[in-house]
Amino acid sequence: MSSSPTLRVCALYPDLMNIYADRGNLLVLARRCQWRGIGFELGAASLGDHLDPEAHDLFYLGGGQDRDQRLCAEDLLTHKAQALRAAAAREAVILGVCGGYQLLGRSYELAPGDVLEGVGLVDVRTVRDPGPRLIGNVAIAVELQGGQLLAGFENHGGRTHLGAEEEALGRVLKGHGNDGHSGLEGVRRGNVIGTYLHGPLLPKNAWFADWLIETALGGTEALAPLDDELEAAAHTDARRAAGL
Ligand code: GLN
Repeated sequence: MSSSPTLRVCALYPDLMNIYADRGNLLVLARRCQWRGIGFELGAASLGDHLDPEAHDLFYLGGGQDRDQRLCAEDLLTHKAQALRAAAAREAVILGVCGGYQLLGRSYELAPGDVLEGVGLVDVRTVRDPGPRLIGNVAIAVELQGGQLLAGFENHGGRTHLGAEEEALGRVLKGHGNDGHSGLEGVRRGNVIGTYLHGPLLPKNAWFADWLIETALGGTEALAPLDDELEAAAHTDARRAAGL
């Protein structure tokens, strides 16, 4: 890299939206920056906190239980939605995982008449289904970088439906994905990404961590390669766990 950049990450509600070791995702971003001599700053914004759309390059919203999502959904709307829209408009990366993905959409219906309004950064709607939770190892094919694979673990009661204009992050190879039958997983609109893949996601998919870092830093310079022997093994294990 010509100058020495710094990746500025903001964890949204790290105290509430953080299940399945979502913190591991933030650690991977930190380490992969540090190993390359890229600066790394981690900020956080929780209930009641103001959010500065200019102050971060990547906003991370992890998974959560329905009851915590309820608290966060209200707070997102009152304190953070405007800033997140501004951040998306300046092409910052916004990554929502599972419960976080659901809240980036238009709505999450917990029961008939009990609907959490989402930020609406992406045109998706989630409905809590009385049927079984969608649980298990999952692998999806994504078109990023000429075709890649993401492997992880999903556990959600919500079924997510994409609006007509919205594109999925990937196609389900194994597992349930957005709703258990469409064959679609996650959403991607520019640099706003939602996915049901926990695991956590990034330790098992180092290539995706690098794509996020590179994109959040402006996408103009390729990142230096790292010795990814362990990361590649973790990826292979996750693929195998999903049956690929
Ligand atoms: N509470 C949400 C659901 O069950 C999200 C769960 C999660 O983040 N793992 O659909």
